[in-house]
Amino acid sequence: MKNIKDYNLDALKEELVSLGEKGFRAEQIFKWLYVDKVKSFDEMTNLSLELRNKLKENYNICDFSIERKLVSKDGTIKYLFGLGDGNAIESVLMQYKYGKSVCVSSQIGCKMGCKFCASTGALFVRSLTSGEIIEQIIKIEQDTGETVSNVVFMGIGEPMDNFENVMNAIGILNNQKGLNIGARHISVSTSGVVPRIKEFADKDVQCTLSISLHSANNKTRSSMMPVNNAYPIEELMAACKYYMDKTNKRISFEYALARDNNDNLKDADELVNLLKTKLGYLNLIHVNLIPINKIENGNYDQSSLENIMKFRDYLNDHGITATIRRELGSDISAACGQLRRQNLK
Ligand code: SAH
Repeated sequence: MKNIKDYNLDALKEELVSLGEKGFRAEQIFKWLYVDKVKSFDEMTNLSLELRNKLKENYNICDFSIERKLVSKDGTIKYLFGLGDGNAIESVLMQYKYGKSVCVSSQIGCKMGCKFCASTGALFVRSLTSGEIIEQIIKIEQDTGETVSNVVFMGIGEPMDNFENVMNAIGILNNQKGLNIGARHISVSTSGVVPRIKEFADKDVQCTLSISLHSANNKTRSSMMPVNNAYPIEELMAACKYYMDKTNKRISFEYALARDNNDNLKDADELVNLLKTKLGYLNLIHVNLIPINKIENGNYDQSSLENIMKFRDYLNDHGITATIRRELGSDISAACGQLRRQNLK
């Protein structure tokens, strides 16, 4: 059966018309799903019993089960959701001063194989549907009674490897008649799938883009991220420049520091040169420094805070805005790169 949350508003209208119904019913259903966040068609009381039955016959309201829920001392909550087909995914709710942010997964497992990331050990099963991406946010809102203000595609999976469903999900999140999460409050992070970054620019997708860079040096980056062999730094920078030329939007670069690997001032200098010479737009660039989280049997150790601060200061002194990302939820393995289904099973 089809998941009703896989449809954006226009597609839902078409579905209803094909069922012999009036298109405006789609807006009513959309409101029930994303404003009232009902769990069943029976609750859609302004629809006729006949229509509710028709909906029940044709669609399900993707309702995840909460398999596990871990609460960190900093308020971060990690969820393990059970899916209808027996798979499980993780999502994280983070509490910031500015609001509640959910880190969503876009795939069950990941194909990218980044050496420092715990998701690498988890077998790739399949991509998530748009409805399954959205459901992570709805389920968390239902469970906590909170309203989610921000969504980051930084959980398990490579969003650009599930492009269509991720873009469709963003459209649904964005819709003012639905969850109404503003474009600047949604962020997609990619390991650097160059053709998709260009497509993203062409579509002028209404959300922000993060690039997981981690090194300005091809040799080092390739050793950390196999995707760099397919799309080396020069191509990645050209795609970023294309994106900025086209959209005039800012890009955030993620840089996870590992001791003696990419955390020396020489590395910072290489990064400054790369961004200045290949990208320009210094006012639209932001570098997010993350202390790398060591994973089980991993080769990378976290840099000292002192080194990370030196790295940040070097970038700032050379005209690149850089901040150190606060780690949330590390005590429940919910911090960057720590999400991995096996840990919870
Ligand atoms: N596949 C996408 C999104 C998921 S990863 C991407 O690569 O961007 C989200 C972020 O966490 C990425 O920047 C990723 O490089 C980073 N990350 C992964 N493992 C990490 C670890 N062990 N320590 C710190 N950051 C990590």
